[in-house]
Amino acid sequence: MVSFGEPCVYACRYCYASAPPFKGYPRRAGQEIIKAVEGYAPDSFDNIYVSCDMESFVDQRRALDLLEGLMVFRKTIHFTTKVPLCDDIVGSIAQLDTVARTWGGMVIPAVSICATSSASRLEPPPVPSFEARFDLVRRLSAKGLRVVLAMRPFIPTVPLSEYDEILGSLAGHIDCVLGGVLFADLGGLIERRLGSRLGDCDERLMYFVEQPQRWKVYEGTRERAHVAARCREIGLEFYMTSPPAIESIKQRCLGE
Ligand code: SF4
Repeated sequence: MVSFGEPCVYACRYCYASAPPFKGYPRRAGQEIIKAVEGYAPDSFDNIYVSCDMESFVDQRRALDLLEGLMVFRKTIHFTTKVPLCDDIVGSIAQLDTVARTWGGMVIPAVSICATSSASRLEPPPVPSFEARFDLVRRLSAKGLRVVLAMRPFIPTVPLSEYDEILGSLAGHIDCVLGGVLFADLGGLIERRLGSRLGDCDERLMYFVEQPQRWKVYEGTRERAHVAARCREIGLEFYMTSPPAIESIKQRCLGE
């Protein structure tokens, strides 16, 4: 997993990356990231994930440069964003996907949309509107890219009807759906930001970063069951983490 590690310019109210216990990632330029990836023995992994933590695509050109630089490893590159990428960046990403397929890889974008009507409260401006992100999904898909819909985190205050609205609007343009748990700091900052009782939670470490802090983890059991059922109805795969989603897309598209 790579990220520029710079503070995000957005302020999503559910964001663990902006809560004090989250230690962030080292701030690195694109070339430094590529050098660091070299140090991870490229034979030992198949996929590179450009994380949505810190939102790496706020500077679209710089993020595209990073994707282009990462192509040297001849892997599948997966990234997540909330930024409504402009058409020439979308076109360039589609070209990278075409190149990656020549060596058995792919470039797989995920667009993060976890609410509709609730979005203005949860993701205040300048976070791009959910409608702009709907449009991005459609434009990526129209270029032949396999698009993941990242409906995460599942937030207990979001009505289930908003998940239906998202799926209903995008079903024909996405390849699979990701849900995800909500991480809240033990100090209660994220819960105060969300402004409501969130129900029962566990307390544990994050599984995807090596940081010693424990977090309250809201599993989103109700949301998970609802979205999984809707996905089954409309014939979409649903996962709670990226790796199985990426493997499934690769299997279906590349016959791996
Ligand atoms: S875009 Fe991502 S990193 Fe930025 S505030 Fe929102 S959730 Fe956090």
